[in-house]
Order: sequence, then C-alpha cells, then structure tokens
Amino acid sequence: MTVNWKDFEVRYANIRKNNPNIENCSFEGCLNPVDITEGMGKDTTCAFHRLLFDFWIYEVCVDPMKVIAYSKEERRRRFTEWTNKIGIEKQKEIVLEMAQSTINWMC
Ligand SMILES: [Zn+2]
Repeated sequence: MTVNWKDFEVRYANIRKNNPNIENCSFEGCLNPVDITEGMGKDTTCAFHRLLFDFWIYEVCVDPMKVIAYSKEERRRRFTEWTNKIGIEKQKEIVLEMAQSTINWMC
C-alpha cells in the first residue's frame, strides 16, 4: 500500500472531525491540524512536519542528541532554516518517502 497526498488530506480531515478544537501545526504558516498518533497522543506539528522533523533530526543532523538538547526556539529556528534551504519540492519528496514506512505512518 502506497501512502499518497490524498492520505494526508484524509488524515487531517479525520483529526479535525474527531477533535473539533484541535490546534494548528506549530510550524510557522502551516494550517494543518497537529498530528495524533495512537499510543503517542498529540504532537506539536502536523503529520507532514512531524515526518519532516524526524528526517531532519535523524538523517540530516550530525548529532541528534545535541539538537534535542537545544531550546525549543533554537531547534525550531534551525529546522526552519533547513526547510527553507531545501525548498518545498524536496520537503515533499522526503515526507512522502518517510510516510511509506509503517513505523512512521499509522492511521
Ligand atoms: Zn505542519
């Protein structure tokens, strides 16, 4: 089974339907609802940015533990900087690839 952008839309719609007062993603300018994963509860970002953040921290950052130790603001600033650098097309490519793994994508 391949996860596609339609699945993301369905996921956002279901989250909104089941949680009418859900907050929006904390990533600046993102209007998607924060993600909810069974067993892990509510995230601070939407499914798109959750996957992108996971990729960034574990595949891009040389020392993930160091990044985790940064303040929330510092981490957010560096993450945003990186997303701006790679551009939206590359972000989408990464996120879609991440979503194919069942560890990353549970509905
Ligand atoms: Zn988002």
